[in-house]
Amino acid sequence: MKKTEILIVGHGLAGSLMAWELQQAGIDFMVMNAPQIPRSSDVAGGLFNPLMFRKLRLAQMVEDLWPVMQATYTAIEKHYGIKLMHHILSAKMVYDKELVEWEQGHEKKTAPYIHALIKGASVKGLKNVTALGFISSSGYLDIVKWLEISKKGLVEKGQFIEGELVYAKMKNFKDKIFINNTIEASKIIFCEGAAVIKNPWFQADWLTPNKGELLEIQAPDLDEKYILRDEVFILPLGHHRFKVGATYSHDPVDTLPSEDGRKELKAKLDKMISVSYKITQHYAGVRPAIKDRMPVLGPHVNRENLFIFNGLGSRGVVLAPYCAKALVKSLLSNNEPIPAFVNVRRFAQLPHPIVY
Ligand SMILES: Cc1cc2nc3c(=O)[nH]c(=O)nc-3n(C[C@H](O)[C@H](O)[C@H](O)COP(=O)(O)OP(=O)(O)OC[C@H]3O[C@@H](n4cnc5c(N)ncnc54)[C@H](O)[C@@H]3O)c2cc1C
Repeated sequence: MKKTEILIVGHGLAGSLMAWELQQAGIDFMVMNAPQIPRSSDVAGGLFNPLMFRKLRLAQMVEDLWPVMQATYTAIEKHYGIKLMHHILSAKMVYDKELVEWEQGHEKKTAPYIHALIKGASVKGLKNVTALGFISSSGYLDIVKWLEISKKGLVEKGQFIEGELVYAKMKNFKDKIFINNTIEASKIIFCEGAAVIKNPWFQADWLTPNKGELLEIQAPDLDEKYILRDEVFILPLGHHRFKVGATYSHDPVDTLPSEDGRKELKAKLDKMISVSYKITQHYAGVRPAIKDRMPVLGPHVNRENLFIFNGLGSRGVVLAPYCAKALVKSLLSNNEPIPAFVNVRRFAQLPHPIVY
């Protein structure tokens, strides 16, 4: 029987950053991950961006989340001697009807992030538009590289278990939990992404997973300096490769690339660019979303040794470092309150059935 203080279930963005924070805090832990369960982190664009574009405004809680995100990924990069964060200016296509809003954006909270608004600006391969809004503090995180590095380190230290936690085989006592008849832990932190929908401990109507699809294209004549943004993003990966995404759908919620998804992405891409391209890949995944679009973090209402860290939705890169740090801080300080905007207790009025 393997014994550990904390078992993290799931090794996506949530579980890997949780592991990083526990390691920094010197807390004993292991990570269990089921490779056969699809992982949203594998298909994500990895973008981080401080602004929302539908109506120009700051993304929720940016002022709290941004410094933690920067500090965490920078510390990881330094620790492992790798580059994960790629800072790239975003160029948002601004149309006539949006121009006033963008001009006013210079005087609002969004101002520090608007690098420039240039009327008549042109970018190679992009269709002409009234103006381009250039956004600083944007870029992407190489999530796949991070998960590989994180797993390698955990495997080397004997802290990684490849396998699925089977809920029916879980025995939960007051101070001990037995998992799959092979592991004994004092606490479990469930970081299962969209698979949480099957977790009998955290069944509630605030879980609203949604499907996203993404294309990879080869476009030899398209500019590679900026992340181009309009109804979809076009993220340069180097060597004329780009990711184009993403779709949002609630029906069906599966991980199969669809013809509808491909058509939608292609139509939105064709509205943006004037150069030829070839589609080389098509991905689909499920975002672990919550109905108020904020993560859920904290202990089960009746079982204080079971924790949830979920709901990263479409902003996992920005949200995960803050959440992992907040949960570790709470564990270290004997349940110091978790900030209200990410605390699972904001849904306390909703049912959390006890399962024995
Ligand atoms: C098309 C698409 C594009 C996206 N683009 C972006 C983007 O540009 N920027 C951004 O910030 N976010 C983006 N996202 C969202 C991002 O992917 C998620 O927010 C984030 O990756 C979720 O991480 P997670 O660790 O919660 O879940 P996951 O990455 O899904 O990981 C959960 C892990 O738990 C494991 N697991 C589940 N149940 C069990 C069990 N019982 N036993 C053992 N293991 C288990 C699974 O195998 C999996 O490895 C995108 C998502 C999609 C689908």
